[in-house]
Amino acid sequence: MRRTTAGIALLLAAAVPAVVALTSASPAPPAVAPTSAYPATVVAAPASLVTAAAPAAALPMLGPTPSSWEGGHAVAVAPRWWPRGYHYASAPWPALWPKPVAFSPTRTGPLRGVVIAIDPGHDIGNGSHVSLINRKYWVGLTKICNTTGTATNAGYPEATFVFDVAARLRRLLTAAGATVVVTRDRNSRSAYGPCVGARGSFPAQEHARLMVSLHGDGGPSTGRGFHVIVPGNYVGYTDDIYRRSMVLGKSLIAGMSASFHRATYLSSPLSIRKDQGTLNMSNVPTAIVETLNMRNRYDAAIAMSTTGRQRIAAALYAGIVRYLRTA
Ligand SMILES: [Zn+2]
Repeated sequence: MRRTTAGIALLLAAAVPAVVALTSASPAPPAVAPTSAYPATVVAAPASLVTAAAPAAALPMLGPTPSSWEGGHAVAVAPRWWPRGYHYASAPWPALWPKPVAFSPTRTGPLRGVVIAIDPGHDIGNGSHVSLINRKYWVGLTKICNTTGTATNAGYPEATFVFDVAARLRRLLTAAGATVVVTRDRNSRSAYGPCVGARGSFPAQEHARLMVSLHGDGGPSTGRGFHVIVPGNYVGYTDDIYRRSMVLGKSLIAGMSASFHRATYLSSPLSIRKDQGTLNMSNVPTAIVETLNMRNRYDAAIAMSTTGRQRIAAALYAGIVRYLRTA
């Protein structure tokens, strides 16, 4: 933790409720899919979304207001948010974005000295800022800033679900000695974003070893289970991280598989994609975990229960630890 941020982090850590012991979240796992090998599903960036060539390696640090750049769309790279960290004074953190937040270790442990980034997807306020989240940015392809995310049929939103899972995962990690940086500090109807490109550029700015982006899928109601998305080798974007991201993705699948079904509505629990802004813009090993299918009644019951969310956090924790052992 850098000196200028330690005070903030300590204040925030002090505000965190009682630490969840690592051993407190180990309910009996349900029946799960067999742990056989699986072929990855490869998804290229759709040509219709790619409107310009890859920009030069040194990306300008622009704020969220689109300007004339790369096919008419700004590059959605976040300005640094740390007080001392604005290399680009003209790009302050947007007022309507939740702020990233850092959490210091609450105990020493096997993850001491490791910085881990967690990205709880979307924001509950995205739905009330539709014109803002629909602005287009360049993230290796042209995409909108963010989306509203999905919800269970009972109306429990993905943004709220993953925000809670992120907090549970963060407590497990900080109790094992890690420093955890999270892309948003609130789940607020008066906020929106951050844009996916900012989420992607965030972990490298914070010197994180890896980032896990948490989501809940809006799949067919007949299907359940989790799946993981990792970046393909997109030259100029992910050629530096795709190999280790694959290791991270497989580690997360292994961690999740011990307690949860692999997606029954997909041919593989692992997708390799070049059309995800969070993955394209990241410079550390990164994986998106669609932790369950919000639209499935069984998965929705897991999402809407505190024990279910804690089990997901514990499974993700196991996957992260597994990945760090490979480094
Ligand atoms: Zn999502």
